[in-house]
Amino acid sequence: MDLVYSDIGIEVTRRCNQQCRDYCMRGPKQNLDISLEFIDLLLDLDRNHYKAIETITFSGGEPTLNVLAIAYTIDKIISEELPVFHVSLMTNGLIYSDLLVESFEKFNDYYNSFLLPMRLAKYPPTKKALYLEENKDKGSSIGFSDDQYHKPISNDVLEAYYRNGVHISYSKTGNRREEDILYSGFSKQGYSLESRKDDIRIFGDYVLDLIYLTAKGNLSSYGDGSFDFLDETSKNFSISNYTLSDFCFEKISPSSRVGRDDPIFRAKTKFLKKRV
Ligand code: SF4
Repeated sequence: MDLVYSDIGIEVTRRCNQQCRDYCMRGPKQNLDISLEFIDLLLDLDRNHYKAIETITFSGGEPTLNVLAIAYTIDKIISEELPVFHVSLMTNGLIYSDLLVESFEKFNDYYNSFLLPMRLAKYPPTKKALYLEENKDKGSSIGFSDDQYHKPISNDVLEAYYRNGVHISYSKTGNRREEDILYSGFSKQGYSLESRKDDIRIFGDYVLDLIYLTAKGNLSSYGDGSFDFLDETSKNFSISNYTLSDFCFEKISPSSRVGRDDPIFRAKTKFLKKRV
């Protein structure tokens, strides 16, 4: 079945340049980068038959330590004209990368010139101008972790992103509330993440929940938690053996049967409509 995926995460590295000892939900860092062949398997349209991926988020560790994998993914999306509508990452703001800016700007051009017109074609002529105005330059975004747990972001780094990546959207986390923090890895505060069997909701052809590809090449229905937790919950779902839809149907949640009036479904689809 051809599905639309709202969120795909790619863990490009388990390396990190910080030690957020009392906070990091990942736990001890690992000297591991994702293999590009896992990214090929994830994005292979003939194999996975996806209608669209609304967002790909590059995750870590610190994702700016493996910009080559990010650039590779973006080049693949553009050269194969894949229906991926947004790319993003969250960084601790200590590394500036020209290649990252160049890739995110390139993706934004692809979004403006190829993806946006595809969506625009479905709009009535009277609404096209407004739709275009509201949605142009929304292809790529970078978030900076400037909360109380990380080392302060380098102002030079921040300014270099703002100056050179003028079509990228930027955000900052701001300080975090304790109840939003995950009790996992090095963190001994916040809420716990329990492993469940059924945790992917599909409404019609729409997958609402995150599908996460670990640096080890396994699929997980969690993007949060320690590397150990992610490995434990994803160990039976190698991307070599599972297509995206096979994985979703293996992990499908009973709440998928909830109708379109479900508040979570309504909130999420409204958010997606607004974004793309
Ligand atoms: S919280 Fe983020 S920046 Fe800090 S050690 Fe963990 S992965 Fe690195």
